[in-house]
Amino acid sequence: MFWQKEIETAPHSEIQKLQLRMLNDTIERAKKSKFYSKKLQNVNQLKNIEQIQELPFTTKEDLRGGFPYDFLAVDLGEVVRLHSSSGTTGNPTVVYHTAQDLQSWANISARCMYAAGARKNDIFQNTMGYGLFTGGLGFHYGAERLGMMTIPIGPGNSKRQTWFMQNFGTTTVHILPSYAVRLYHSMKEDGIDPKKDLKLKIFFIGAEPHTEELRREIQELYGLKAFNSYGLSEISGPGVAFECGEQDGMHIWEDFVIPEIIDPDTLEVLPDGQEGELVLTAINRRAMPVIRYRTRDLTKILPSPCACGRTHRKIARIKGRTDDMMIINGVNIFPIQIEKTIMNIPEASKNYIIEIAEKNYMDKLSVKIEINDEAFDGTLEDLEKLKHKIETELKSETGVSPIVSFVDQGTLPAAEGKAKRVYDLRKK
Ligand code: ADP
Ligand code: ZN
Repeated sequence: MFWQKEIETAPHSEIQKLQLRMLNDTIERAKKSKFYSKKLQNVNQLKNIEQIQELPFTTKEDLRGGFPYDFLAVDLGEVVRLHSSSGTTGNPTVVYHTAQDLQSWANISARCMYAAGARKNDIFQNTMGYGLFTGGLGFHYGAERLGMMTIPIGPGNSKRQTWFMQNFGTTTVHILPSYAVRLYHSMKEDGIDPKKDLKLKIFFIGAEPHTEELRREIQELYGLKAFNSYGLSEISGPGVAFECGEQDGMHIWEDFVIPEIIDPDTLEVLPDGQEGELVLTAINRRAMPVIRYRTRDLTKILPSPCACGRTHRKIARIKGRTDDMMIINGVNIFPIQIEKTIMNIPEASKNYIIEIAEKNYMDKLSVKIEINDEAFDGTLEDLEKLKHKIETELKSETGVSPIVSFVDQGTLPAAEGKAKRVYDLRKK
């Protein structure tokens, strides 16, 4: 049932004691970096875990500003790996790992996959990008640690993905939810029914926001269980929080990170159960500890204990990032609200994009959806009716009036990495 029973099921008070010890060690280690030597110079050892709230936050801008080595807390000779984010909007954020960091990351990744039901006899196919992106190598080493035969295929090339699945009897797959939908269509085109022709049992889906509705759809299409997986490079990568067999929120490993939820405007710490921005402190990292990192991801901590027996608290599905929020004529909406509506319409395929334009000083929101050929063979008039139906439902979900249009299946842009759903064409 458990990868590491003792720590996964330890009483929460014990976990907190461990956290305090690990946090105090982390503070001392962090002070060796240029950034934290200044930021934490007046901070002494904490006496209780609540005192974490007295520590300063670290932001993405801090990480960028500290490029390339201000966050390094060990001698360069101790560092064995570097990962980095894309850096399209300035200096990339860079993250370093010692050998010990990599081992502890592989261990929590294995813990995640085990909690979702993966075992050493499984055949694991990793469709995430290998390279600077942490999705590939992160779970790769976790899967090997668990003992699965690991196929490091990387992203794209759906025919080849399917060929490996068929010939090697792949049972578990790490995949972006948006790609899972596209891969299914490619299989259908080639006359392959994953339910009958493949041995798939488990998908680990994550790295991008998605709805419960999309998860259910993926489970239906493939006839398997899909588990939500959350992580971010700044804390290591995938493996930070993960769903167990209950599929109801993601356990956040509290012997690896300390989670807090804050109000992103007032920066006040919110109680469990209230939604806000997730703040994470990595307490088991050597090369680059980050303290009270503002993830910009919106979620809440779920207060109740979990039926699976794990005592580490859970976070809810990520609603989006604070900077994903779209302001349309003054109304705040998240892309995920649009996805939720579309997922309930069988005639709509699960590929869609959102465009925001500006006309006569008014924002115009358009949603382009690929039609699902299997579920729709009506007339143009029927299509018009369907369009109106979705527009009405989107209006009631979001409070704004989007314009819906349909395009042929397979015609919307397909990203090799995380899906790009929103195109904001307004002048900034
Ligand atoms: P980048 O910032 O370049 O996307 P990362 O690969 O580190 O770099 O991405 C981490 C981010 O991806 C998270 O902060 C979060 O916004 C998003 N993310 C990761 N996993 C999930 C998930 N399961 N659900 C929703 N969003 C996720
Ligand atoms: Zn659980």
